Amino acid sequence: MTLTIGMVAHDSKKPDLVSWAERHARSIGRHRIVATATTGGLLRVAMPEAAIRLVKSGPLGGDQQIGAMIAQGELDILLFFPEPLAAQPHDVDVKALLRLVLVYNIPAAFSPSTATALAGSGLFDQRKR
Ligand code: PGA
Repeated sequence: MTLTIGMVAHDSKKPDLVSWAERHARSIGRHRIVATATTGGLLRVAMPEAAIRLVKSGPLGGDQQIGAMIAQGELDILLFFPEPLAAQPHDVDVKALLRLVLVYNIPAAFSPSTATALAGSGLFDQRKR
């Protein structure tokens, strides 16, 4: 079976996540991807072969849906590129998501360089479940 990878990017970081995903489409594209609505729509265009399930947009509850997946043991990895220079309307949801990442010790990356480091670790190569 495959891993389930959560993917979320705030607006100013969506181009970074999409271009990272294009460069790593071969390694992440074989897994299940769950993404917030706008991010996932862009990823679907960039990786038409990939299985990408959309949850709600982050400000409308998507971050909480992804957090719930973590709590239920349904998410293996999170790639989340947040906006570092501006406040978000759903800041509390972002904080809650990050807290669950720590509570459940989910491998996570918050920037292109850390995502590349995760990819280089071989994590995406493993088959789980
Ligand atoms: P979006 O949600 O992908 O729908 O923009 C992401 C977020 O803002 O948390």
